[in-house]
Amino acid sequence: MANPTIAIVGRPNVGKSTIFNRIAGDRISIVEDTPGVTRDRIYAVGEWLGREFSIIDTGGLDVSSEPFMDNIKQQAEVAIEEADVIVLVTSVKEGVTDADEMVARMLYRSNKPVILIVNKVDNPELRSEIYNFYSLGLGDPYPVSGSHGTGLGDVLDEAVKHFTTEIEEEDEGVIKFSLIGRPNVGKSSLTNAILGEDRVIVSDIAGTTRDAIDTEFTSESGQPFVMIDTAGMRKKGKVIETTEKYSVMRALRAIERSDVILMVINGDEGILEYDKRIAGYAHEAGKGVIIVVNKWDLVEKETNTMKEFEEKIRREFKYLDYAPVIFVSAKTKQRLNKLPAMIEQVSMNQNLRISSSVLNDILLDAVAINPTPTDKGKRLKIFYGTQVAVKPPTFVIFVNEEELLHFSYARFIENQIRKAFPFEGTPVRIIARRRK
Ligand code: GDP
Ligand code: GDP
Repeated sequence: MANPTIAIVGRPNVGKSTIFNRIAGDRISIVEDTPGVTRDRIYAVGEWLGREFSIIDTGGLDVSSEPFMDNIKQQAEVAIEEADVIVLVTSVKEGVTDADEMVARMLYRSNKPVILIVNKVDNPELRSEIYNFYSLGLGDPYPVSGSHGTGLGDVLDEAVKHFTTEIEEEDEGVIKFSLIGRPNVGKSSLTNAILGEDRVIVSDIAGTTRDAIDTEFTSESGQPFVMIDTAGMRKKGKVIETTEKYSVMRALRAIERSDVILMVINGDEGILEYDKRIAGYAHEAGKGVIIVVNKWDLVEKETNTMKEFEEKIRREFKYLDYAPVIFVSAKTKQRLNKLPAMIEQVSMNQNLRISSSVLNDILLDAVAINPTPTDKGKRLKIFYGTQVAVKPPTFVIFVNEEELLHFSYARFIENQIRKAFPFEGTPVRIIARRRK
């Protein structure tokens, strides 16, 4: 299901990113060697009153080459296009400015729900000044202090009221996937090639949601899929849409809605920072991942070319060691017929459950092979474990002290579980809990 989306707009320095970080919190934990995930965060998932939502800080989509007003205008356009609820941030310090008025007019015309924040109301005396902001014609201004974190509860209460309860049909057996990657790696070509395969039956091409053109199809084996469209396929040519941050944001939104991500890289060019960022996000979000090396027809091959390329991928995407790699060509269609079965397999692995008794046998064996670590004279004790979730498979391990289950030992346990069960393509989470 697509999350309802809140977008934050406003001129520079009013406190957008401060507010974004407050609202987003740090629900998405960051694996240390996942590069670039926290840096310049402009997209996150938050929760309020049990409702999950996505949040975008359009201020982070800065196109510095553009004149000031054009920049804000484009950010507001993105907000209007992407969001269910728009939060306009202003500041009590400068009062109502021309830029505020311009954005307010744009938002007013969009007919989207808009919540007006007056930020930097750090003390009660400043509250009387928020009345000037009624002139923006966007209803009641909400006094907020991003620095202190005050007033945001009321804003979120109001935002949640505007979330539509439109539920995207959650068709049980359907696997949703998306092709993610830099511009020009061949996402559109792969899309067309996959859908053009003889035995694939495309049932529907419909703009089902605002931000995506999804395609439903059924593979040879009868498995229904939904292919989720991503950025880069609708080349509309606004400056902001050609920026990397915009493309990253669109990719993150597609990842959110997918069960399995096909991380497309170009066999010709190798792996870039962008790829690592996106892959890191898919990993953090617990999605299934397949690494698709496209344009393999262009690569001069010798005996070990494929093996060497795979080793390079393993080095660059260390945390994705579970992701299968496939070498394809959208042009010659080499190996494309293997993709649907691979996606299906990864999706099955994401949904795999292992019984507690089997898991505990694995844990006992693990401890026998590699004794639990000690820290400051204290030894980690593992009492038992149980699988608490699928998509991704998540295991809670009950221990004497949570801090004693270091990353490296958790990693070792994960590997022992992976040796026993085919969790290929899916992240596996290990969570330590102190036994009460
Ligand atoms: P953005 O450019 O709109 O994303 O603004 P930032 O979030 O980067 O904030 C700009 C500046 O305003 C920073 O120095 C913040 O520390 C400061 N700031 C943000 N919120 C508040 C607030 O509620 N009160 C005060 N006094 N300063 C704030
Ligand atoms: P997108 O921006 O990721 O959607 O990439 P496109 O599908 O538009 O492809 C970019 C360019 O790469 C186009 O000129 C394609 O014809 C070319 N291309 C895509 N896949 C392949 C491939 O497997 N082999 C070769 N030789 N060219 C490809």
